[in-house]
Parts: sequence; structure tokens; C-alpha cells
Amino acid sequence: MDALKWADFIIEVQECTKCKLSETRKNVVFGMGNPNASIMLIGEGPGQREDELGIPFVGKSGQLLDNILAACGFSREEHIFIGNIVKCRPPNNRDPLPEEKDQCIEYLHRQIEMINPQILVLLGRVALQSLIDPKASITKCRGNWIEWQDRWVMPTYHPSALLRNPKLKYDTRDDFRKIVEKYKELVDPEHEAVNI
Ligand code: SF4
Repeated sequence: MDALKWADFIIEVQECTKCKLSETRKNVVFGMGNPNASIMLIGEGPGQREDELGIPFVGKSGQLLDNILAACGFSREEHIFIGNIVKCRPPNNRDPLPEEKDQCIEYLHRQIEMINPQILVLLGRVALQSLIDPKASITKCRGNWIEWQDRWVMPTYHPSALLRNPKLKYDTRDDFRKIVEKYKELVDPEHEAVNI
């Protein structure tokens, strides 16, 4: 990772006005975590708290995600980089529009190229459909590895879906068990999950 190139990239995204979401955002949410991470988590877009703070996955769903990561023995600082399909908040938490995703997705592709993670975790339908297949169903695809551009991709539920429907936590736990196993296989055989 070229640190200077990465810093320039952050500034470029934070100044972006390519789509109309720039008119209503408070902060661009570039992403956070280790820019040399082996695992990249990809969500949909910032919500209200994320927009206010400029940090992805804060609030209740962020806390839940951090708990899941901790159970896997992962931390945002060491193992993970978290990004989103769009970097600015869609008003009223609506789905990002196709033209907004089209404008923004280039940044995500550049993040993936620069971070170069072996494992991508797609959190929810919008991430799955935007990156892999516009017709894909998260219910059908979750829990199954997809080989994509020389990387291993695991679709799973978005943490906010778990908050709405706690029964989904059982499937999600299975998905993250597979992610831990893949991490051990590809990156660190000694890695220990805490409680997944
Ligand atoms: S959502 Fe993406 S493309 Fe649109 S203004 Fe924000 S950073 Fe730029």
C-alpha cells in the first residue's frame, strides 16, 4: 500500500460532488479499518449517525457488527476494512439510486484494488446486487462462497436486518464461521475465533 496515494485518494473522495447525494450529506464516509486488511466488509451506504460522524457502521447495527467481529477474533483496526457501495447518505435511508451507485462504485473498486483483500464480505442485498449480480437474492446467495476477480466473496445479511429479524442471527453465525475458516486457510492458520 502506497500511503501517500491512499491519503490523496481519501481527500479526492471527501471532496467528491459527482452525484446529488453530495448536496444533502454532512460527511463523506470513506470507510475505516486497516488499509492492508485481508478482509473487506462492504455495506450499502451511510445512515444518519454515519453521516453525522463520517464513520461507517456506528449506532446499533455497528455495535452488533463489532460484536460479531469480536466473536470471530477480528477487529476493525487489525483485520478489517469496512466500506460502502455509496459514500454519502441517501436521504431518509432510501436505497441508493442506480445513477448514484454508478457514479460512486468506481471508488469502491479502487479501494478493493488498493487494499487487495483476499476475502470480501457483502453485507446485504444492495452490496450483493451492486457488486456481483443485479438480480441476485441475498436469501439464496448468503452462506455460499463466490469466486470473483481472484477473491473469495461471502454474501451475508446486513446487521440492520438482524436487528429487524433476530432469527437471522443463526444463519449469520454460520456465514461468519465460514469466513473465519477461510481466513485461517488463506491468511493465518493460528487465528482463533473467540466465540462464534
Ligand atoms: S455518493 Fe459517491 S459519487 Fe456521490 S457525491 Fe458521494 S462520494 Fe461522490
